[in-house]
Amino acid sequence: MAKRILVVEDNDLNRKLFCDVLRSQGYAVEPCADGLLALDAARQFVPNLIIMDIQLPNISGLDLIETAKKDAVLRQIPVLAVTAYAGKGDEERIRDAGAEGYLAKPVSIGPFMAAVKGLVEKVGIDKTV
Ligand code: MN
Repeated sequence: MAKRILVVEDNDLNRKLFCDVLRSQGYAVEPCADGLLALDAARQFVPNLIIMDIQLPNISGLDLIETAKKDAVLRQIPVLAVTAYAGKGDEERIRDAGAEGYLAKPVSIGPFMAAVKGLVEKVGIDKTV
């Protein structure tokens, strides 16, 4: 069965790009444009990975990651954060919030897929232990 990936990204072009690339690689993808709906979407879709834009209207992706990592179920889902801020200290803040992976925009497909595969496969290994 295909691994599931929830894509939380408010920018229409980026969301479509991420979803198209992931689908072309055989993943089942659930897009989420509204950060306020992201955690509910994660509970319903039960993804193997969440791709999380940090700059969202109404709520910060950082806050969503912190909330997810305090939730007994959601905390088990790895998070790949994607952010337009490439400032010093950003990666540390994002990893402190609990994200397992981090990419700065603009995102290239190669590093994006490498990060996705690394995190999805890590989950598979953990589950066989
Ligand atoms: Mn955004």
